[in-house]
Amino acid sequence: MLYDLTAFFSQATAPLQQRIVWLMYYAAEQRLACYVVGGCVRDWLLARPVGDIDIVVEGDAIALAEAWAAVWPDQLHTHPPFGTATLSWLDAGALVSLDLISARREHYPQPAALPVVSFASLADDLARRDFSINCLALQLVNQPTSVIDPHNGLVDLQHGLIRVLHERSFIDDPTRILRAVRFAARLEFTLEPTTAELLQQGLPWLDQTTPARLWNELGLLLSEPSALKALSLADEWGVLQQLFGCAWPPAFNQQAQRLLTNLPNEQLAIGWLLLMSQLEPSVAQAQTKRFGLPKPIRQAVVQWHELANTAAPLLNTTLSAGKLDRWLSPFEPLVLQVWASAQTPLVQQQFGYYLQVLRPIASQLSGHDLQAQGIKPGPEYKTLLAAARERQLDQFAAENPNLC
Ligand code: ATP
Ligand code: MG
Repeated sequence: MLYDLTAFFSQATAPLQQRIVWLMYYAAEQRLACYVVGGCVRDWLLARPVGDIDIVVEGDAIALAEAWAAVWPDQLHTHPPFGTATLSWLDAGALVSLDLISARREHYPQPAALPVVSFASLADDLARRDFSINCLALQLVNQPTSVIDPHNGLVDLQHGLIRVLHERSFIDDPTRILRAVRFAARLEFTLEPTTAELLQQGLPWLDQTTPARLWNELGLLLSEPSALKALSLADEWGVLQQLFGCAWPPAFNQQAQRLLTNLPNEQLAIGWLLLMSQLEPSVAQAQTKRFGLPKPIRQAVVQWHELANTAAPLLNTTLSAGKLDRWLSPFEPLVLQVWASAQTPLVQQQFGYYLQVLRPIASQLSGHDLQAQGIKPGPEYKTLLAAARERQLDQFAAENPNLC
């Protein structure tokens, strides 16, 4: 079957189309073999929205990128050790980027280490890739064109299968395990049986992989719309056990789904907190640090355990508004919401009352007021202000019983 890349790019915005047309002419003139490869070909063939565009050049991609940048006013970043260049430009306020890649061969000196790279042909470049569905290519110069498919990715695409190209794939690069989870969840594909076995054999190699490389994939996995499905698969395949020593039980899916309706932008934090909630506090904090999670999430993990530690005696009682506020005010709303979502209806109702009604109320008494009353600034300010706020909120609750 023949495909026409001009039709593919006709769906793109004008600035991208113009650049691609230029590239097609330039490559033809220079007799430079250029190919659209990887995820964008896969997504186009699946009729899914196409993300980043990757172009492989049999030759010097950096020289090509420099010729490009002489014509177009785009930002150019080059990575000489890998022979790659990224061009980016603003399109209707959004940053669009395109990667130009010198076709390369990769050799792994040790399992889970970074590869040694040498320049090579398109066939070599496709052979270094992760899954058959990700190593499809379409040449850029003569249209229409047939799909270059040396690893039978088209058949796997039709059958919804994720298949590695060789038996050492997950050992060479264990981050591919996380990629397999991500694509299986996103595309609703399954692992081809031998790939499933190889993935199991590759699991121990995750321990040898640097946290930064793992996080590149984990962060993407937790941020995708299909993250909950990905977490379930990662649990089923033993990936979570291997990485963190924890699970993702089905109940977490319902819990996370409920939370996400109110907190749609907190998916990564919610996923991470639920995972870490199963671990000892020191282990959870060490994992959070190891993967370099952002500071608000690191603090949330610490607060989670503080909240759990202080909660026990209070879970079955209804606290006064002032006491509830005093207990919960040090905690981030996100931590309170995620934690409460697994508690009894009474706790959920009290936390909801605190977050929606009490927390937004400004304190009537301030440090300035105490100073004006002639009280010298000192440690007792904190006690006095807290007691005043407690009284204020108890009075508020007495005057507004319908809000409880
Ligand atoms: P997405 O839609 O998430 O961007 P993608 O397939 O485009 O998916 P990228 O991470 O953008 O994935 O990588 C582009 C291409 O580079 C992939 O399609 C794949 O061919 C190759 N690739 C990326 N990471 C790896 C890896 N760890 N091992 C082998 N090949 C990889
Ligand atoms: Mg991509």
